[in-house]
Amino acid sequence: MMDWKQLLYVPLSHDFVLGSLREQAASTGVTVLAYHELAQDDADVEAWTVVRKSDFLRQMDYLSRHYDIVTLDRAIARLEAPTGASRPLAVITFDDGDRGNADVLLPIVEELRIPVTVYIATRQVVDRNPYWFDQVINALQVDTVVDVDLGKYGLGRYQINRARGSKNWLEIERLLEALKALDPAARAQAVEAMLAAVPPMEQRRKNGQIEPMRVADVKALATCSWMTIGSHSHCHNLLTQLSASAAEESVKNSKSLLEQWTGRTIEHFAYPNGTYDNMTVGVVRKTGFRSAVTFESRLWRRVDSLYCIPRVGIGRYDSFEKFKLNLVGGLRGIWRSAA
Ligand SMILES: [Zn+2]
Repeated sequence: MMDWKQLLYVPLSHDFVLGSLREQAASTGVTVLAYHELAQDDADVEAWTVVRKSDFLRQMDYLSRHYDIVTLDRAIARLEAPTGASRPLAVITFDDGDRGNADVLLPIVEELRIPVTVYIATRQVVDRNPYWFDQVINALQVDTVVDVDLGKYGLGRYQINRARGSKNWLEIERLLEALKALDPAARAQAVEAMLAAVPPMEQRRKNGQIEPMRVADVKALATCSWMTIGSHSHCHNLLTQLSASAAEESVKNSKSLLEQWTGRTIEHFAYPNGTYDNMTVGVVRKTGFRSAVTFESRLWRRVDSLYCIPRVGIGRYDSFEKFKLNLVGGLRGIWRSAA
């Protein structure tokens, strides 16, 4: 059954409604899109974070017809000194630094000549091993039902792969959110137990695995003038769960590794999971970044701190109607402008 939101997307995503909302957005805000990974259409992967190449191309076609796609620097400058331009601005960002950013995204960026920012979390590049959340997602890419029982860790039971598509993702997401809430040491134990209990590696779908970029991929990204490279920490733990000194070490380490690999100054940061507080804002500012992005799902307005820039997440299961609405701030944005 369609949920009520899906039913609303269709009439609200009509060009007439969107046109007037875009006009409003042009004078007041910037749309910052947050993606994670792109994959070829035939990749058989069950993960909201992995968007199909053809969907991304369709989204970019729509975006370039209605928005000026600009770099973060350009958007910051425009918000600081508005010009009264008629077209709204959009910024495209990717988090984590997965392999598809080099294999699929980079050729698209070079062909379409659109500015994109990729925020790279560096430990997975150094270790050549995905973070815990992608290890969990990868382990679940099998064609059998997986029963995950984390009762021992104070978490529930999860039945993965009983359905396919967005319904299955909801169950995977429920598992990831429960694991995320544990402190890093307890989570490592729970993830290890879970990985030991799932079907063996040979049963995983080969074209359904999320892999980190290699150093050579990061260097390839940096040769493209349309690419801005940002940092996404070294450890990718929620920085708010760490001590100030541990958070600072993770943020500094990723900045210096990326500067070493790319020969560029790394000036922009994305909080892991978009999670931040006063301590983490202080750490990021002190380390020399000029901006930081979150996952607060709304348009970016001039009054927002440059260290708490909101972004709208785009995922594999979002319909094109939902994508169009997200560009103007989503359903909540529409309620706000109607009020
Ligand atoms: Zn991330």
